Amino acid sequence: MALFHFICTECGKTYREHDVELTCPVCEKLQVTGSFARGVLHVELESFPKVIAKRGLPINHPEVLASHWPVKSAADVPSYPVGDTPLLPAPGIRKHLNLKNFWLKDDTRNPSGSTKDRASLLVAIKAKEYRKEIIVTASTGNAATALAAVTAGMGLKSVVFVPATAPRAKLVQMMNYGAKVIPVRGTYDDAFELSIAAAKKFNWYNRNTALNPFTIEGKKTLGIEIIENLTRESKAPRGAREYLVPDVVIIPVGDGVILAGIAKGFSDLKKAGLISRVPRLLAVQPEMSSVIVRSLELNQYSKKKAKNDILIAKPSPANSVADSLNVAMPRNALLAVKEILSSGGDGVIVDDEAILDAIQTLSRLSGVFPEPAGATAFAGLLSAIEQKLVTKNETIVLVVTGTGLKDITAAAEKLAMPEPISPTMESLTLDLLY
Ligand SMILES: [Zn+2]
Repeated sequence: MALFHFICTECGKTYREHDVELTCPVCEKLQVTGSFARGVLHVELESFPKVIAKRGLPINHPEVLASHWPVKSAADVPSYPVGDTPLLPAPGIRKHLNLKNFWLKDDTRNPSGSTKDRASLLVAIKAKEYRKEIIVTASTGNAATALAAVTAGMGLKSVVFVPATAPRAKLVQMMNYGAKVIPVRGTYDDAFELSIAAAKKFNWYNRNTALNPFTIEGKKTLGIEIIENLTRESKAPRGAREYLVPDVVIIPVGDGVILAGIAKGFSDLKKAGLISRVPRLLAVQPEMSSVIVRSLELNQYSKKKAKNDILIAKPSPANSVADSLNVAMPRNALLAVKEILSSGGDGVIVDDEAILDAIQTLSRLSGVFPEPAGATAFAGLLSAIEQKLVTKNETIVLVVTGTGLKDITAAAEKLAMPEPISPTMESLTLDLLY
């Protein structure tokens, strides 16, 4: 029996695993170069696990991952520690914002320091199964670093196309992992198109986000972990039959694949009968890269659109300080907008000043040091409270997607570095300390 089949998120057609490689052959005919991806596929498992994780096993144990992922057996899942990141109660944030049930999902703890490791691990497992030795991706930085890390951990090779302007720490990190790095004089969107052409020409396995269905499927573990962690951390009474579900999950959004991955995790748990409702998804985007949130507004207020039609806003130059979120045209826009609307969620736009402030505020109130993209979610929370999109008694989970060590230039922007002093007690004047 097949482990899974693909289902097109646009037209609903189903396909067997080896009948398609990336997107739906019918809908991809509508693809416009440089625009959002058409015919994004979902993985549909033939059977779902009865529990999230077997008692006593960590949630990223190969046996647990194999029960949620479209892989043949646990033996195909390498012991490379992706996921199982902490859900923190962050008492400093709870007190500061008077939020009683706030939680912070700290995904900076992944091996390469970002959520992208989750997608890269599953893509690399499938590449190995398909006997593809080289995996290619375009990336603003984190996906390339994650792919470089995971392929190094599994003995595979990677070629990555990144904008030459990617933060230096990310470039240094991916090169040390041994990826073949191709910096592109252009935007992420330029790198994306070039990588697709290169993958075709050289027969490399394409990890490009949204196009490769295993990127969404890989990231769904983030949604599954949120439910498992919340249930465990909230110390639900013994015998409680159902897992706990937060009211709202706040997610920084670039291409929209992390959001779609989280939504897929919730959707799978609902299909498995393990939860009965899904949280509202609150997407946060920078002002300078905001197609998905602007599209939400179009779909909420447009009277012109047909019932099942999703409208996508026009692309605009992406130039935010949150480099990971800089996409002129989010590849997963169609599915991300659909997921937000069907969850009853919403979107928030924040400016660069708010993002830079949030790096410091979030670090000081939680002990979690975010890159600008991770801080974007926190800036979004502040705005959502003001706009009354969340209420103080709701159970709120905020996802921090990447570590601040990846972009210390941005993190230093709001700091005044102290002048050095002589190593004498006389030099240590009180005004230096307070
Ligand atoms: Zn289709």
